[in-house]
Amino acid sequence: MKLLVNFSRGKGRKPIIAQVVRDTGVLINVERALIDSSEGEALIEVPDEQCQLVRDSMANLGAIVRILDHGIRHDESECVDCGACISVCPREVFTFDDAWKLRCEEGKCILCGKCIEACPHRALSLPL
Ligand code: SF4
Ligand code: SF4
Repeated sequence: MKLLVNFSRGKGRKPIIAQVVRDTGVLINVERALIDSSEGEALIEVPDEQCQLVRDSMANLGAIVRILDHGIRHDESECVDCGACISVCPREVFTFDDAWKLRCEEGKCILCGKCIEACPHRALSLPL
């Protein structure tokens, strides 16, 4: 299960992900993180059965946590199979099938947004 975590980093705050790993014993896979001196956003993956435990633990430390049920949204009716999204995606979410139609494996997506900017037909959008 993927979780999007937003948190502030006030003076003296402990690193939230490390703290939750220590408190819960759950191994957290960090797929993407943007952190500066005042705030942070991280996309993490945790086992489905431990999702609620991790979510509650992070919320108790002041984070805002959203469960992400979907990766990038691909609108097939708008897509012209140009392939521009294939080269910019860092996770190889997009491929062509045998008929040169775009295939999208949204489960691999880390919601970085790069493909949205690259698509000339606005066929891609974030599920947020
Ligand atoms: S949002 Fe990023 S990871 Fe997801 S499909 Fe687009 S480029 Fe790939
Ligand atoms: S960039 Fe847009 S139009 Fe081109 S293949 Fe990807 S989703 Fe389709």
